[in-house]
Amino acid sequence: MNSTTLAVAASKPVPAIVMQQQIKKDWEQLVNQITELAKKEDDCALNIGDLLHEIKDEWGNQFVQEAAKASGISMSVARQRLWVSSKIPKEHFLRDTHLTYGQLRLIAGTSDVDFWGKQALGNGWDLKQLKTAIEEAGDKKAQEDGHPCVQCAEALNDQQKIVAFTVQGEKRHRACSVKCAADYFFARSQEPQTATEDEDGPMSEKDFDLA
Ligand SMILES: [Zn+2]
Repeated sequence: MNSTTLAVAASKPVPAIVMQQQIKKDWEQLVNQITELAKKEDDCALNIGDLLHEIKDEWGNQFVQEAAKASGISMSVARQRLWVSSKIPKEHFLRDTHLTYGQLRLIAGTSDVDFWGKQALGNGWDLKQLKTAIEEAGDKKAQEDGHPCVQCAEALNDQQKIVAFTVQGEKRHRACSVKCAADYFFARSQEPQTATEDEDGPMSEKDFDLA
């Protein structure tokens, strides 16, 4: 485009209402496309998991690793896909719902897949709401069951206000007080390798051992 056409285009401004309508249309179109692709992405993740599941059933874990290597996906991705597919297999009712792969992955990490699936659907929770609900239920149970404080190892109880936190990629940590939480973080900052594990059972696919 040369400078003359630019000048002509600039001299004929598009009416604001037309601009607004066009922006709205473009916006909706783009969002619809993204929604569709995200759905496909979810389907792909589940399908990959199902195929790995098939390989595991047929030939064992060793071949899951082989398949991951041969197809160029990382072991952590393979492990996660396989884990979700194992906990929520193809024929499971949650597969026919609008729940996203991210939501299914969270639900797969619970000890009661059906319960949390129904909760997510019934309450219309998004990913963040579902995550919070699962975490809070886990905290409550840990207090009732008297799990040890991550720092002082004293049994938690349901009368106290605990401090619970999740460090990326780790199981949830729970401290009996703000002081214990602060001490814990201080100790970790001095020695980064001291991550502890609680006994919640598998809360993430990292616990899903393929060996
Ligand atoms: Zn403590």
